[in-house]
Amino acid sequence: MRPLAYSRAATIEEAVTLASDDPGSAFLAGGTTEVDLIRAGIARTDHLIDVNDLPLAAVEDLPDGGLRIGALARMSDVARTPAVAERYPAISRALLLGASEQLRNMASMGGNLRQRTRCAYLRDGISPCNKRDPGSGCAALEGFNRGHAILGTSEHCIATHPSDVAVALAAFDAVVHTVGPDGERSIAFDEFFLVPGDTPRLEHPLERGELIVAIEVPGARIARRSVYLKFRDRQSYEFALVSVAAALEVEDGMVTAARLAFGGVATKPWRARRAEAALIGAPADEASFRRAAAAELEAAVVRRHNAFKVELVTRAAVRALSQAAR
Ligand SMILES: Cc1cc2nc3c(=O)[nH]c(=O)nc-3n(C[C@H](O)[C@H](O)[C@H](O)COP(=O)(O)OP(=O)(O)OC[C@H]3O[C@@H](n4cnc5c(N)ncnc54)[C@H](O)[C@@H]3O)c2cc1C
Repeated sequence: MRPLAYSRAATIEEAVTLASDDPGSAFLAGGTTEVDLIRAGIARTDHLIDVNDLPLAAVEDLPDGGLRIGALARMSDVARTPAVAERYPAISRALLLGASEQLRNMASMGGNLRQRTRCAYLRDGISPCNKRDPGSGCAALEGFNRGHAILGTSEHCIATHPSDVAVALAAFDAVVHTVGPDGERSIAFDEFFLVPGDTPRLEHPLERGELIVAIEVPGARIARRSVYLKFRDRQSYEFALVSVAAALEVEDGMVTAARLAFGGVATKPWRARRAEAALIGAPADEASFRRAAAAELEAAVVRRHNAFKVELVTRAAVRALSQAAR
């Protein structure tokens, strides 16, 4: 048994100071993933800093019609907040399709963004894994890689990012607000998640001790009729093989604005900007939707077991965009 210290921070400043001063520490929010990783010996945390007393659980309106979601807001509470369900149905749906009701009642929004990949080779604790043991290799490259990424991969890592809600947040240009040892920061969602490149160990740009305090989603009329579809091996309590967040504005049968993001197929929540560009000015029909998905997937790199994801995410995108267009 490994000894584990526990502190309970009373203020944001105290949480940040405690964490900055101790390289073996980690914040504890719902604990639904950090505790598993400690038990499995994957996280080498020896000091948990409980942040649950901090006043970071509110969901508040922004003047532009957007929302500020506190980092400690629970997934279930956010999903059921009327302003989220009405203004960003894709965010609400993505939350409700994640994990299980019990987990969603505990799991926080900040913790959700910081959850680690479900790649079995990271989690078994012994296989070569450049995320867990930099320089050891990536067992997934030649191993069983049916669930692995086809976008944003490198020769050092092909693990997918597992979050559902992060996919919907990516589609709507969310911004992550933090407080760290050097003060406050705002990080655009695209920059918050790092592709593995040569350094798979680095998953986000946070400094040691930097606390996520909120996620802001700017007001977006297009989001009001957004959809989130998730395809998985089991209908509940399962991560996405493929997921899609989509929203469209259509005038006279032509697409005038589009938002599209993919989950389950990439090393980070994947904003499909090439597909969005291909959609603008195109007829809002299945042929255009398929062409747009193909434009995004030109960059896909498939491995032995995951080539099926190209067609699956294409069909998912066509279905999601068709629903969003209605
Ligand atoms: C069986 C199972 C199934 C799941 N299925 C899904 C699914 O289908 N879809 C999905 O999206 N997710 C799924 N999840 C993941 C779940 O959503 C996450 O475990 C949860 O969101 C993590 O939140 P938490 O508050 O419990 O985080 P914790 O476990 O408390 O923390 C997780 C990490 O985030 C860090 N952290 C926490 N809060 C902050 C903060 N404010 N600032 C900086 N760092 C912070 C912690 O230090 C830790 O490293 C599943 C989890 C389990 C166990």
